[in-house]
Amino acid sequence: MGKLLIVGTVAFDAIETPFGKTDKILGGAATYIGLSASYFNLDSGLISVVGGDFPEEYLQLLRDKKMDLSGVEVVKDGKTFFWSGRYNYNLNTRDTLITDLNVLADFKPVVPDHFTDCGFLMLGNLHPAVQMSVINQIPKRPKLVVLDTMNFWMDNTLDELMEVIEKVDVITINDEEARQLSGEYSLVRAAQKIHKMGPKFVVIKKGEHGALLFNNGDVFFAPALPLEEVFDPTGAGDTFAGGFIGYLASTHDISFENMKRAIIYGSNFASFCVEKFGAERMFDLSQEEIQRRLKQFKQLTQFEIELTH
Ligand code: AMP
Repeated sequence: MGKLLIVGTVAFDAIETPFGKTDKILGGAATYIGLSASYFNLDSGLISVVGGDFPEEYLQLLRDKKMDLSGVEVVKDGKTFFWSGRYNYNLNTRDTLITDLNVLADFKPVVPDHFTDCGFLMLGNLHPAVQMSVINQIPKRPKLVVLDTMNFWMDNTLDELMEVIEKVDVITINDEEARQLSGEYSLVRAAQKIHKMGPKFVVIKKGEHGALLFNNGDVFFAPALPLEEVFDPTGAGDTFAGGFIGYLASTHDISFENMKRAIIYGSNFASFCVEKFGAERMFDLSQEEIQRRLKQFKQLTQFEIELTH
């Protein structure tokens, strides 16, 4: 069975969309990644930190999805990472209202012994120093290391982030972040520059406009499924990343061809995530509905055309 280690925030989120508002609910990058990857038959572990204010029932929800939480530290007298965001009417852009690092500010991750031999490492969004510390605790390089990050870390910890970027095989970021990181407006040029920073594979997420996979000269594009109802895009990027690495870890194949399928799996899970507030939709997907939607993806993207030359 593939062993997947996931690092990222386990958080309280407060979200506002044109359709409603939530108080503090379960969120965080590692939460979404773990939920999405839980639909593959894997041995998955999370590395994160929460405060004493974090409900035990939330942790239990994650354990029930077969995530090993021995790498999740609970700081009894600390407060959990809190993020709050508000989406604009088109749901494609959002403003971060609050980022309270709380216990994340001085988190020292410890990789449990039984995960130091993981084959797949997902460095989800959180402080690059924590991501680096996890890389350094794994003696034998995993088969694949995937990094996700965001503008917050580019703005505040760029030097440390660049050191992590140099060490990974795949980076997944959204289009605006790719532009910020590379200083290039064209995503093709942005990907070329990011390749030079280290990653052989660059995945650029474009929200409802799909995702691009670059591998030096090769490019693949997957659309997002056109949905009747999008409720809350929070976590879509992380859910995408979880589906992407989950599929790769379960197939043990990191070729470009298989990464194309992984991109489709990631997009498929993200399409479910946005249908309800927070992570709610990701708890009880059936294999049947996952497969049904994959079929829709196939129908959406396949065509025959006769070439005259
Ligand atoms: P996404 O919508 O995929 O970008 O991810 C949203 C999730 O990322 C939320 O559940 C937040 O808790 C988490 N998040 C927001 N800001 C940060 C940050 N600076 N570092 C780590 N995680 C974050």
